[in-house]
Amino acid sequence: MSESNGGAYAQVAVEQVPDRLFTYAVPPGLEVRVGMRVTVPWRQILRQGYVISLSDVCPALPGRGAKTDADLFGEAPPPRVKAIAEAPDPLPYFTETTLRLLRWMAAYYDVGFTLALRSALPAPVREGGSRARELLTVAPILPPPPHRPPLSKRQKALYEDIVRVDGGLLAPLCKELSTTLQTLRRLAAMGYIAVERREAPRNPLAGRRILPTKPLPLTEAQAAALRVILAERRPTLLFGVTGSGKTEVYMQAIAQTLAEGRGAIVLVPEIALTPQTVNRFAARFGQQVAVLHSALGDGERHDEWHRIRRGEARVVVGPRSAVFAPVNPLGLLIVDEEHDSGYKQDESPRYSARDVAVMRANLEGARCVLGSATPSLESWRNATELGKYALVRLPGRVGGATLPDVAIVDLREAVRPGQGAPIFSEPLIDALKSCLERGEQAILFLNRRGYAPTYQCGACGEPIACPHCSARMTYHAKDDTLRCHLCGAWQRPPAACPRCGAPLFKPLGVGTQRVEAALGAILPRARVIRMDADSTGRRHSHDELLSAFRAKEADILLGTQMIAKGLDFPNVTLVGILAADRSLNIPYDFRAPERTFQLIAQVSGRAGRGALPGRVIVQTLQPEHPAIRAACDCAYERFAAEELEARRDAGLPPYAKLACVTFVGPDPEAVRRAAETAARRLAACRGLEALPAMPAPLERKEDRWRWQILVKAPSSKAIVAACDHVIPRDTRVSDDLRVLVDVDALFLA
Ligand code: ADP
Ligand code: ZN
Repeated sequence: MSESNGGAYAQVAVEQVPDRLFTYAVPPGLEVRVGMRVTVPWRQILRQGYVISLSDVCPALPGRGAKTDADLFGEAPPPRVKAIAEAPDPLPYFTETTLRLLRWMAAYYDVGFTLALRSALPAPVREGGSRARELLTVAPILPPPPHRPPLSKRQKALYEDIVRVDGGLLAPLCKELSTTLQTLRRLAAMGYIAVERREAPRNPLAGRRILPTKPLPLTEAQAAALRVILAERRPTLLFGVTGSGKTEVYMQAIAQTLAEGRGAIVLVPEIALTPQTVNRFAARFGQQVAVLHSALGDGERHDEWHRIRRGEARVVVGPRSAVFAPVNPLGLLIVDEEHDSGYKQDESPRYSARDVAVMRANLEGARCVLGSATPSLESWRNATELGKYALVRLPGRVGGATLPDVAIVDLREAVRPGQGAPIFSEPLIDALKSCLERGEQAILFLNRRGYAPTYQCGACGEPIACPHCSARMTYHAKDDTLRCHLCGAWQRPPAACPRCGAPLFKPLGVGTQRVEAALGAILPRARVIRMDADSTGRRHSHDELLSAFRAKEADILLGTQMIAKGLDFPNVTLVGILAADRSLNIPYDFRAPERTFQLIAQVSGRAGRGALPGRVIVQTLQPEHPAIRAACDCAYERFAAEELEARRDAGLPPYAKLACVTFVGPDPEAVRRAAETAARRLAACRGLEALPAMPAPLERKEDRWRWQILVKAPSSKAIVAACDHVIPRDTRVSDDLRVLVDVDALFLA
């Protein structure tokens, strides 16, 4: 019944009305196609919606699934269904295949179809987008026409300056030439310059000077990888360390895809979406590259999306939501750093962009490449035990750059009585000193921001906790505040302990600010850039800090996980991981060893990427932990084999599907009761295993109490069916209780 063109009735998903399609008549003369954005009368107002299918018979007759709004609200059935009011765009927003993909996604992640549709469009596109911005530009009139009023000396100088820079956008020009709007308007009135309205380019690459690059002759391993990618019908897992030439392989696969007349999407982790990454693709494919990034302005995002839909840009680079980019026909989907947890959306729909990519490629007959130096265990099993993916390895770094030499430092040996472990061990201090003496750069990594993660009474040991969360407050020395990293609450440090009244507090533990201070003491001349959520708030500061480091304006880059990925600094020869076990000791988190392995491997991949050899120093209190040892030996395959065996024995993913059902509400008793009731009923469902309800590791967050049920089953279908039965979707959100279902949950928190 679904047919792209024609049909007297349209089934429409109406925005903000979940879980239901509505039937509308297609008025004569209006061209409506499947996937189009339409405006429809919904109750008393006009709403936006999307055409899901078209048919010649009205499917809204009694007993047929879809209902009209009138049926839904219990009015007498109207003589006719209402008509679509408007179809403002000539091109559909969704192809039939994308609609199929979204239907799959809605079912797999247990969300309404309308919500799935919404998530596939950038907000500025959904909202119809602002019209292209018009900006005032200034252009000199050359030569100045005769018989003009003479200019004053200052006006003449200004006019000459405008000629020299050949005009430009009004506002920046005012600043550049230190003049005012009034002065420029006067010059315009006198006929020396023209001030005009022009459509401003809203292309994020506009104005960047990028040197074009040519494809490099591939190494043997790269050529073999490319052959597999081009020939395979299955997705290809490209397993290669950082610097092994994966990106070059991606680019040549893209070139081949373009030559076949199809487009490509490259997903990268949000944090790695730096100008350097984008420039590499832009340098190869020029104006065909579109960037989709939440940090772009609304106008840019709107325009880029439409450039893709019109087929003007056929190579899309972006974070997880770019997996839905309207590239048509699509020939290649690449997921770089496929293990990255940023590909999982942490709000509904809680989809994994990697898994959506595999599904989309499958539906569209496109090639799919998953690249990583530390593949997720899910992908590794698919590529080895199950043979669902092809596996290719890029064994070494291109151009003979060697893998860094990794040393473990046992911090327990450096513990001084009464003081705990030092921030820097002797070997790391020595290595830092000699690195800087040679004029090279270092990266220091600590996955914790602020000054000290605990602020504790010196007399009774009581830590200051967030009044709204079950979490301690982190001390920030910069502005002398205590801050909760979960909810953002802050307060001044109290004058006396709220429990015993003692006036003495001690900041305990180490965050990046404290490391920065300690560096100042041991290496007073070192120039340090600190990168964490506190130092990168403004829109471009992330890029600015990295560019400054690249330009060698600093000796040491100190940061949290935001420096762990995708960066390439040829002059960095030393990487220090200050507390490698930080991510191991998270209670209940069975993925902690996998994450720790990935982190150490990724961070140490930053060292020795250029001609200079690299060194990595890993400080830890658990030097014998298998994840840490394997990471330091760069032994991914050994780690994966051991860890998969442990997961199989425990019946954990990837050997089972796991969903985390979280109950959230203001009243702890009500939350507990709801969770326990649901757990009992889920446990009674056949074909799955539901653990008893438990308080979540984060039991309270932002004044809400949280309980959890873990559900395991062989398939997502079984989990979704049981959840829909026990906790129907329309009962999951109320004022007192919210129920979140996270299929393939990555973090149990
Ligand atoms: P990865 O994506 O695996 O980190 P890249 O593709 O970025 O690796 O390659 C690392 C470096 O090696 C880059 O500077 C890249 O330009 C260079 N490179 C990649 N392939 C080749 C090749 N076949 N010949 C010469 N240099 C190459
Ligand atoms: Zn809090």
